[in-house]
Amino acid sequence: MNLLELHMEQAQSFLQKYYGYPDFREGQRKIVESVLSGSDTLGIMPTGGGKSVCYQIPALILPGLTLVVSPLISLMKDQVDALTTMGVPAAYINSTLSGKEVNDRIRAAKRGEIKLLYVAPERLELDWFREEMSSLEISCVAVDEAHCVSQWGHDFRTSYLAVSPFVNSLPERPIIAAFTATATPEVMDDMIRLLRLEDPALFMTGLGRDNLSMSVLRGENKRDFVLNYAETHAHQPGIVYAATRKEVDDLYERLRQSGIPAGRYHAGLPDREREESQEAFLYDDIRVMVATNAFGMGIDKSNVRYVIHYNMPKNMEAYVQEAGRAGRDGEPSDCILLFSPQDIMTQKFLIEQNPQDGDRKRNEYRKLQQMIEYCYSTSCLKWGMLDYFGEAHDRKPCGICSSCRDERELVDMTVDAQIIFSCIHRMRERFGVSLVASVLKGSQNKKVLQYGFETLPTYGMMRRRTEKEISELINLLIAEGYLALSEGQYPIVRLLPLSVDVLKGQHQVMMRAPEPILSKTASSSSNRRRGSAYDDGPSAVNETVFEQLRLIRRELAERDR
Ligand code: ADP
Ligand code: MG
Ligand code: ZN
Repeated sequence: MNLLELHMEQAQSFLQKYYGYPDFREGQRKIVESVLSGSDTLGIMPTGGGKSVCYQIPALILPGLTLVVSPLISLMKDQVDALTTMGVPAAYINSTLSGKEVNDRIRAAKRGEIKLLYVAPERLELDWFREEMSSLEISCVAVDEAHCVSQWGHDFRTSYLAVSPFVNSLPERPIIAAFTATATPEVMDDMIRLLRLEDPALFMTGLGRDNLSMSVLRGENKRDFVLNYAETHAHQPGIVYAATRKEVDDLYERLRQSGIPAGRYHAGLPDREREESQEAFLYDDIRVMVATNAFGMGIDKSNVRYVIHYNMPKNMEAYVQEAGRAGRDGEPSDCILLFSPQDIMTQKFLIEQNPQDGDRKRNEYRKLQQMIEYCYSTSCLKWGMLDYFGEAHDRKPCGICSSCRDERELVDMTVDAQIIFSCIHRMRERFGVSLVASVLKGSQNKKVLQYGFETLPTYGMMRRRTEKEISELINLLIAEGYLALSEGQYPIVRLLPLSVDVLKGQHQVMMRAPEPILSKTASSSSNRRRGSAYDDGPSAVNETVFEQLRLIRRELAERDR
């Protein structure tokens, strides 16, 4: 048996002895093996996937100290408390300790009595700390929540940039193991580059946890939904995330008034109150926690049965982390996102509020757009998520997300799509969703008249619909990949090769549209009792569309030549 095999046997027995787990999870074993073999390692695992074990177990086996870089003081304390209870020699050093306590712990580490030392990244910048650390053997630096090093991530912390210089200042280079739940390509690149991982082994595991049922609900009365859901799930712990403190307070009051044991958490509350409600939630004294995204990093509560998003989060990374707090114990749990178009405005406002450079802003808009597309998507939400994070999957629908459970019939939306694409083409692909909608509606608004769009042949072609419905339909076409939206605060909607195929009559558009959109489709109106959505009746519209299409096809053909 070689040394690595021996170490792996040891790892397995420590897992049982200290943690009481019969076995490593998929992914954990490979990461532990990689670290023990001395390789820099990047482990990407969903929240609740079990990242801690991946560096804690090697720490028990490696000869020297493992220094754990962890972003939050509260997180550090919880982890170390849990470890000491299990008999693992761990400690933390942070600003809550006295000088003497700090010295005691450093001395204990030098005597080899501590195997895991937790610190905040800021500490790595202190000269005295560097010096102390240089005089003891550090086998591994484990960087938890490593996405904090990246500006592209959602929790950028400047002090994470101190990790690499700190490592360089050590007499011997330790193994660097970095962990996160965030797996976008930019963040991955940054982690490797900014933490200076050397030829790292990369592990990425199951973002799609099978016990989570993902839902996006559009057009709900959000407040009623939450009250109702919390009431019917009164015996189960759940988290409701809202975008603003005001909304948190409001929901909290209403839940309380309905007699539901609720707590609240946001940055505007005194530390005391936040700690109390966090504890109450952990120990099941309250059932539902209403919170802003300030709540939850590092919360280890395994039996959260549902996570409701009262508003759309700013991007998929944030969403997956927050929703991933449900069902860590593997039991079936619900992740419900309550979407309304207002959420888009809110998120754009927040991006604009935040002073930052152009690249970063463009990136945030791009991510927001992908989040919006997820919300409008009618295909399996789990695919959507795995595709976003670039994880390979077998393209089998999950069967339990809101799209998979959607039993509404697929409707032929080809003619509506053709009308919209024609209009975009006529407007020279230079405007955003709402102006296209105004033109199709036949609106007299200032911008329409200013550009003379009231003379376009497609003007007012969808006048029976509301502008909101038309916008919704265009957004659906974007989400389904028929149209592209440019980046930035005022994105422009453009045709894609697929939309051109639709215009040429070479591709049929089948969609599961929400009811109001469905009921007025041009294609199906003739065989539906509801009657026509157009003043001129379906056949007249179809003739105009046909005429339009004939012209546009000719133009497209000429452009191709
Ligand atoms: P992460 O940091 O990836 O969010 P944690 O390390 O906090 O996840 O672990 C999440 C939960 O999974 C914890 O409750 C932990 O006790 C549990 N866990 C981790 N590894 C195993 C395992 N091999 N077997 C059973 N439970 C595990
Ligand atoms: Mg963790
Ligand atoms: Zn699905």
